[in-house]
Order: sequence, then structure tokens, then C-alpha cells
Amino acid sequence: MKPLGIYIHIPFCVRKCGYCDFLSMPAGPDMHGRYTEALLREINGCEGKFRFDAGEYDVRTVYIGGGTPSVIDPKHIKRIIRSLEKVFGFGQINEKGNLNGDRNGSRPEYPEKDIEVTIEVNPGTVTREKLAVYRQSGINRLSIGLQSVDDRELKALGRIHSYSDFERTYYAAREAGFENINVDIMTAIPYQTMESLEKTIDTLAGLDTPPEHISAYSLILEEGTPFYEKYAEKSGDETENENEGDRIRLPGEDEERAMYHFAVEHLAKYGYSRYEISNFARPGHESRHNTSYWTGTDYLGLGAGASSLINNVRFRNEAETEGYMCDPATTDRFSEEVRLGRSDRIAEFMFLGLRMSRGISEDEFLSRFGITVDGCFGSVLTKLIRDGLIKRNEGNISLTEDGVDYGNYVFSRFLEPATDDRSA
Ligand code: SF4
Repeated sequence: MKPLGIYIHIPFCVRKCGYCDFLSMPAGPDMHGRYTEALLREINGCEGKFRFDAGEYDVRTVYIGGGTPSVIDPKHIKRIIRSLEKVFGFGQINEKGNLNGDRNGSRPEYPEKDIEVTIEVNPGTVTREKLAVYRQSGINRLSIGLQSVDDRELKALGRIHSYSDFERTYYAAREAGFENINVDIMTAIPYQTMESLEKTIDTLAGLDTPPEHISAYSLILEEGTPFYEKYAEKSGDETENENEGDRIRLPGEDEERAMYHFAVEHLAKYGYSRYEISNFARPGHESRHNTSYWTGTDYLGLGAGASSLINNVRFRNEAETEGYMCDPATTDRFSEEVRLGRSDRIAEFMFLGLRMSRGISEDEFLSRFGITVDGCFGSVLTKLIRDGLIKRNEGNISLTEDGVDYGNYVFSRFLEPATDDRSA
């Protein structure tokens, strides 16, 4: 049986943040209910839609993301998880309150028999009742979108919550029994300084029972967002803030890099190791779901706009929510359906694997593709090592610190037409 990760997309938020280009929108309870019904239909019809047999797969992780999944009634979340259990044959809440990987309990080939089940939540949308239902449903990991402990920065981002809302949510989650919590923070946001970033990290690390995992992404100005209109030409400069009558300053590119490197070093002091470019964990608390994605495990993405990789075919669901809900189990509403060829799979293995601090294993490359990594990328590797962007260490190839800064350039080198033997 092959391992599988499942992603469920809930595209609803209280309101749209100014920087957001995710598939998300405000909507009311009626829409939440109709969308859930559509998801249940997609789950029940997923084997036909994605042309696979659920019995071939072991579900190892479920990730409910968005949007803000915590805006919808938790009974919808519970029904979604129960439907997945029926189709994929896992279930039972074990003595730790987590979902078992199969109906019979223990599964010796996996060190962890629990499934990692994560839900993204936003402070200000979570109640004790919701948290209790999540635990009863087998959810064992929370990912809380905080971004900053500075209320002025949160307001500039258009977040719906304050730092004290976060603290209430955080401690309520601990009381509800969540022992595995991620907190999202952001760098290069309006008003942010090195000192305020330091305060964000210090405050999180100083919580009673600090989070097990921290994700730190940089603000990206995405075209089509209100932030892009406002700041695209002006990062590093001051900009008039009409609402507050003062000057907003968005950190420039060099400051953004400096903030990133500061975050890496400062998080390390508190025991958070960087295991992927933007993800930091205390030992044993790396996200299993995201790691499976970076290591090329098959994943099934359900919901509007969700992507899947099943048996070397990449699918993308229609992103238009009403269109998706019309016939969520049909096979002819994919916005993308591409069979990955050998060279696509090799390139993905490289650029996803290189995102992780441990990089890619040369032995694994050989066993997956029947050729050495030098046989495929010899000249590319030589140049990237010479330029100080990647390094070789005990059978692994990984980014150097400079390579992290020029990650997109490094990844692009593995997408170039083959000069070595990649199609053998
Ligand atoms: S809460 Fe997240 S998904 Fe929702 S609008 Fe804000 S950034 Fe986008």
C-alpha cells in the first residue's frame, strides 16, 4: 500500500485580507452548508473522479486548509472527516484521542500509527465548543494564523484579530488537548522592524508551553491584490496611510532577506530548527503532511481549486466555487490534468526535495529513477556547487545559505532541458 496525504480546501474567510491571493471569500452559513455537501459528494466519488482504488492507499495525513476552515460550523468538519474514514478505511479514536491509521489499530510498517490531522484556524473564529468538536473528530494538530504580535502590523495586514485574540485561542487549544500546534508568522510586513520581528518570536517562545512548530513566510505582493496596487512600486519607501494619517513603510528586498536570516537564527536559539525554507520545528514536530508533499508522496486535494497528484497524474479542480459545487465528482471539470513524464518527476524530486534542509538523498534518487543524480544533472550540479549555492554532504545534496536566498534560481536549473541523461 502507498502512503497518501489528503488536503481539503475550505474557501471561506470572515473577510479578505489585503495581501491575499488564495482562493478564499466571505460567505454565510447557507453557502458553507452547500459547499460541505459538495465536498461530501466529491469524497464519495473520488475513486472514479481521480481513477484510483482507495484500497491501494494508506492515509497518513489529512490537512484541512483554506481560507479559514474555522469559520464554518464544526459539524461540517466532523462530517468531512467521517466520510474520508468510510472511503479510505481508517478510523477509531485511540486512547490518545487521535485517529488510528486503520480500523484494526496498529500498523507495524509505520512508526506512528496515528494519522496527523491538521486544521487551519484563525484567532477570532474559534470557540471552546469548536475546539472540542475538532478533538472528538480526531483532529490532533492546529495551525493558527497569527502573523505578528504587533496589533498595528496586524491591522495593516487587514487581519480580523488582535494579539490578545490569538492568546485566548492558543490557550483554549491547549486546554482542549491540542499537543501539536503550528503558528504562522510573517516577515516584511508593513511597519515591521527587526525589533518587532524579534518581539514576535520572543513572545511566542515565551508562551506557557510554546508552539511545537512555527512557519515564517515573507509577505509577497501578488498582482491583483489591494496590497499590490498600494505597495508594488514602493517597497523600501514610505507610503501615506490614508486611514491612520501616518506613513507606512514596507521593508525592501534587502531588509526582507535580513529579517529572514534573523528569524532563522533567533528561532534556532529557542530550539526551532529550520527543516524547510520557511518551516521550523522542535525535534519530532515537523509537519508530516508538508514533508510528504516535499518528498513526492501522492496527495489527493478535494474542494474548489485543490490540486492532486495521484499515480503520476496532476489534477487541479475547477477554482470557481459555484462551478465546482455543480458537479464536484465529475471527471470533466478539472482545470488541469497532466500526466507527469519521467523528466517532470525527476525535476520535481529535485526542486521539492531541495526545499528541505536535509536536501535530497543521492541513494533515493538512484533507487527511484535507476540513474545517479550525476548521470542526470552532472553539469548543473558542478556549476551550482562551484557557485556556492548547493553542497554535498554524506550522500545528500542540499542548498547552502546563499542557495536559500537564490532558491528560485537554483530550482529553475533543474527544469532546464536535459543536457545530461534525464530521459534514460
Ligand atoms: S485569512 Fe488567510 S485565506 Fe483568509 S483572506 Fe486572510 S490571508 Fe487569505
